[in-house]
Amino acid sequence: MRAVVVGAGLAGLAAALRLRKAGLEVVVVEQLEGPGGKAAGWEGVPTGPTVLTLPEVPQRILAEFGQGLEDLRPVSPLTHYRWPDGRSFAPELSLEPTLAQLSREEAQSYRRLLAEARTLFEGLRETFIFGPPPSAAALLRYGLRAGWRARPLGSLRRLVEAGPYLTPFFLRFATYMGANPYRAPAVLHNIAWVELGLGVYHLPGGVRGLVERLYRLALAQGVSFLFEQRVLRARVGPGRVELLETTAGCLEADLYISAADRHHTLSWLGRPLPRYALGVSGFAVLMRLKEPEPLAHRVYFSSDYRAEWREIEEGRWPQEPTLYLHTDGEAAFLLVNAPSLPEAGGVPEARPYAQHLLQKLQALHPLPVAEWRALSPSDYSLTSYRGALYGRAPHGLWAALRPGWGVPGLRNLAQVGGTVHPGGGVPLALLSGWNGAGWLLGRMHGG
Ligand SMILES: Cc1cc2nc3c(=O)[nH]c(=O)nc-3n(C[C@H](O)[C@H](O)[C@H](O)COP(=O)(O)OP(=O)(O)OC[C@H]3O[C@@H](n4cnc5c(N)ncnc54)[C@H](O)[C@@H]3O)c2cc1C
Repeated sequence: MRAVVVGAGLAGLAAALRLRKAGLEVVVVEQLEGPGGKAAGWEGVPTGPTVLTLPEVPQRILAEFGQGLEDLRPVSPLTHYRWPDGRSFAPELSLEPTLAQLSREEAQSYRRLLAEARTLFEGLRETFIFGPPPSAAALLRYGLRAGWRARPLGSLRRLVEAGPYLTPFFLRFATYMGANPYRAPAVLHNIAWVELGLGVYHLPGGVRGLVERLYRLALAQGVSFLFEQRVLRARVGPGRVELLETTAGCLEADLYISAADRHHTLSWLGRPLPRYALGVSGFAVLMRLKEPEPLAHRVYFSSDYRAEWREIEEGRWPQEPTLYLHTDGEAAFLLVNAPSLPEAGGVPEARPYAQHLLQKLQALHPLPVAEWRALSPSDYSLTSYRGALYGRAPHGLWAALRPGWGVPGLRNLAQVGGTVHPGGGVPLALLSGWNGAGWLLGRMHGG
């Protein structure tokens, strides 16, 4: 059997490996010049993901091929946080040194909210993350089992009220799924456990290093790649995709996996685009440094986190944003949250805003910048529909559920990746690709 995978991001690489492992001949079509998608990197600087969590997910995929991640190491402190009044906080996996940095009241809130995040994560992990897209019966079972502990009606904003420092600290984790934290449901608090309870990890070369390993493994396994080639449209017959028309000609296969953004997949399928609200985008400044900096993740909170999100909600790039800075040797990556692109109308010029952000950064953490480039929501729109990095805005309990892998009426196609089940982020996109490919194989074999 022959398979075509659209997209060589993390999900596409994982899907290609799973199909190859099952003995299929696999071709991956990718519009960019190399693998990685959002995690592709520029001159050794990350273009997207920098925080690696749940490393057992890539470890399990590599182990299927007899490989490991021996050079993986935990990052400590997890992240350095700073507020405009000079207050700082650098949580670690170990509770004692973490709580020692907090007042008695804050320490109580931290313990309570960490335990709450753990309960949420452990309650939902099998149904919403590691398993297939949940059926109605699975949702019901989850609801009955987890009950009120799943916080079905609560808002994140209310759940994490813990004073002027810890509230924005806990709210921010919901942005990892593309949410405006002030509109997110309480259940998204589970993400805090993944980072604070399970840890942040690092590989040489960062997430880009992981992409390289998966790509090299796929090549060694005999997967073929067509780079700088785009899928333009699908030719569809009764109940199945017959072939893909691409810039490299027509590609015909027995089964197809699209690991592109869901809207992009639906566009080349000629399907109507869903009308749901989109989650947030990002604005990044990638820097090459003259001198190396230590490996670190840093967050510089704005003076008014709520006002920042109001600006984003109104479609503006925030003027006093919270800055996320990642440094690793001669690479530095600065990221702020930004609205996804409007349906119509222009967006501001990227360069002046990037300069504004660089000026803010230099006042907080001076860096010897040799060269830099900006990545705006328009740039991210190449891999994400209208620049919305995680697809649908997870605002509300139902909206937090990701679309499934199947495309109605097409038996030999699966959609995987960060905008469908189980969602975005490095480990989840990998799970989506690996498990989604397994699901399609089962379906093709009558499962
Ligand atoms: C700025 C930023 C910061 C992030 N930070 C983190 C983080 O710290 N930690 C974390 O875990 N996650 C983070 N993420 C999220 C994570 O990067 C993504 O969820 C994950 O990389 C998505 O992988 P994917 O394979 O689903 O999608 P993508 O990487 O978008 O891959 C899809 C691929 O499909 C290709 N494609 C699309 N349409 C076509 C077509 N028609 N023809 C051919 N090819 C096509 C695209 O070019 C792309 O390469 C971040 C993302 C961004 C953008």
